[in-house]
Amino acid sequence: MNETRVVDQRLMRQLNLSLVLNALRLTSPLSRAKLAHATGLNKATVSSLVEELIDTGFVSELGPERTGRTGRPEILLELDRRAGGIIGAEIGVDFISVVIANFAAEIIWRHFERTVPATSETRVLNRLLETVRQGIRETQGQYDRILGLALGVPGLVDVFSGTLLFAPNLHWHEVPLQSLLEAEFEFPIYVHNEANLAALGESFFGAARDVRSLLYMSSGVGLGGGIVLDGQLVAGAAGLAGEIGHMTLVLDGPPCNCGNRGCWETLVSQEAVFQRVRAAIESGECSQLEDLTHGDLTRLTIPLVVQAARRGDRVALAALEETAFYLGVGIANLVNALNPEAVVFGGVLSLASDFLMPTIQRIIQERALRWLARPLRLLVATHGFDACVMGGIALVYQHVLSRPFRATRASTQNSRQTLASPQRFRDPSTPAPRHVGAASTGGGETRDEPQATTTSMRGTCQTPHEITALAVVKRDHG
Ligand SMILES: [Zn+2]
Repeated sequence: MNETRVVDQRLMRQLNLSLVLNALRLTSPLSRAKLAHATGLNKATVSSLVEELIDTGFVSELGPERTGRTGRPEILLELDRRAGGIIGAEIGVDFISVVIANFAAEIIWRHFERTVPATSETRVLNRLLETVRQGIRETQGQYDRILGLALGVPGLVDVFSGTLLFAPNLHWHEVPLQSLLEAEFEFPIYVHNEANLAALGESFFGAARDVRSLLYMSSGVGLGGGIVLDGQLVAGAAGLAGEIGHMTLVLDGPPCNCGNRGCWETLVSQEAVFQRVRAAIESGECSQLEDLTHGDLTRLTIPLVVQAARRGDRVALAALEETAFYLGVGIANLVNALNPEAVVFGGVLSLASDFLMPTIQRIIQERALRWLARPLRLLVATHGFDACVMGGIALVYQHVLSRPFRATRASTQNSRQTLASPQRFRDPSTPAPRHVGAASTGGGETRDEPQATTTSMRGTCQTPHEITALAVVKRDHG
């Protein structure tokens, strides 16, 4: 048999194994017959693949299916929770968040803590390291190995090298995060922009679970974005795709922190909403927001604007309406370019989605090509504050599911080795020039905020949906 054919057959088997694992991820438990139906593979092939997955610990047998029919009952299969631990982590402007999930994507441990903004990167990275080690220590009896860690950060990331190139709100430049973490842990490490991970999280576990191609956008301090096409996160030539907030929307528009003028995020960030409110009040219009902020309009927040809008406040409603107009225009452009099935709207502005969505929907229908606009679904992100860490879980999951046996070999005994290497980070970079100003990348810094906490969830069987659902509820306006 020639070599190409052997490689083809191995690749085919790998793809089929991946198909079976993915089917069990989406629907579980399933019998072999139902797996065959779900994957389109024949029953004999499925049986052989399942045996291999049971032998390697990825899949376990639950027991007989109760169908009420006569004849031999089928044995039900599910992903084996113990097959591996997966770590999702996020460094935000003023927080660190880490979750650990088992192989059934159930969160078994989580930790959230505030950090002081502008804390040195060495201190933040050491806290991250200590937190991850604590999580591994407290959960290590619950899985056989760690399959990987994915870290999201609010900045430009070269995903091929895992280097954070620039994070304006953190004031970090050129930090080789992936190699720093690889020096500490034996398992695979991935580093991405937080909005990109959030996009993947929503497509795996969230609002767009049944969607193969989606545009995720997170509007808060800035406007971040992530693009998932055909189930894959789009990286771009240099791994920097998704900076949708810096699309020029108004040629002579307001200056942006990136140096350009009229960037989309200058028109649709939370600050853009606040500026519209302040301008209206300064021009003599009355608004309840004056009372709600006790006369200090620097204390405006999106929840306050929403509160005023719910009471029919004209200034609040008009500010949201104008913001929705520009959101709709930008989305229409992207819909024409990318043809997504869904747009998932996250970040703190999604708290105002009741007021924003009707206008966004109308503008998309007016301005995007109708063949692309009509079938488009407009969804509100499900995971709120957890979107990025859930995306981290999804990213590792995706790597494992696509190459299960590579993951098996790569991660053998990694958690034990991890615990035996308690080094701390050296100062990882030379002093860098400071960039003052709000970030463009990482629009989600002002998401709903949990309190500092560590939670062990041993023995619980909550799905990610159940434990991470925050204020924003999935809603389909399509
Ligand atoms: Zn810009």
